[in-house]
Amino acid sequence: MAQTHSLPGLLILDWGASELPPGCHIAMSTRRGGVSPPPYDSLNVSYAVGDDPVSVTRNRGILAAALRLPLSAVTFAAQAHGLRVQDVGEMERGRGHASLGDAFAGTDGLLTEQVATPLAILTADCYPIAVMGDGAIAIAHAGWRGTLGNLAGRCVAELVRRGQPAGEMTGYLGPGIRDCCYTVDEGRAAAFVERYGEESGVCSRSPKGMMLDLAMANRLNLQAAGLQAHRIFSQGDCTACNPEYFSYRRDGLTGRQAMVIWMSGDAG
Ligand SMILES: [Zn+2]
Repeated sequence: MAQTHSLPGLLILDWGASELPPGCHIAMSTRRGGVSPPPYDSLNVSYAVGDDPVSVTRNRGILAAALRLPLSAVTFAAQAHGLRVQDVGEMERGRGHASLGDAFAGTDGLLTEQVATPLAILTADCYPIAVMGDGAIAIAHAGWRGTLGNLAGRCVAELVRRGQPAGEMTGYLGPGIRDCCYTVDEGRAAAFVERYGEESGVCSRSPKGMMLDLAMANRLNLQAAGLQAHRIFSQGDCTACNPEYFSYRRDGLTGRQAMVIWMSGDAG
């Protein structure tokens, strides 16, 4: 992300406003600045990984305050590595902000046409993907299943259904596990080669084994859905080799970081 701002002890990444449509915002939390003890140290924002919910609530409050958003408006999904996309209307704003049970069940994509309705996706190696239209935005959680199932393309299709031209949308890939660290078995590699082709570079052989490039695959998903290549931005960090992030591959039992997107309804 183009910009980093740090409150005392806190590290939030902020996508540069110059690359975002007017009034749209994307922020990404890291491990730093929360209250959770190991192995959730420290800014774990997930209720689903075994951390003390009191700590998670405090961490979510820290994140929302840093973004100058009311936590009660931030909307969460109970993610399930599936392909379901939920439209978040005014009545659903803030679902799941205080508990997992209240979050949209079995949902890995959220979209909204509402201003002041922040949408959050939690990750630890999977890709947070944002798609911004003019007056409608979507966010997705894509690991290998969501990538192969084209969840990003589904989000684009849902925005198209709401009158957004795909060629005018902008896509953003947040930090995730990259092909430096993401070894997969031959079977999974074969599924990606079958889907994207040998020449795509989505899979490559290295001394460590078969490496899978989920960022590339999701970029191709967005392009196939109609986004222009120059309107797809990738943050570039690898969660597995950068200690600022939670990484399931690296650490097993660990916390989750959040990508949060919202429209403020003004150009600010
Ligand atoms: Zn890496």
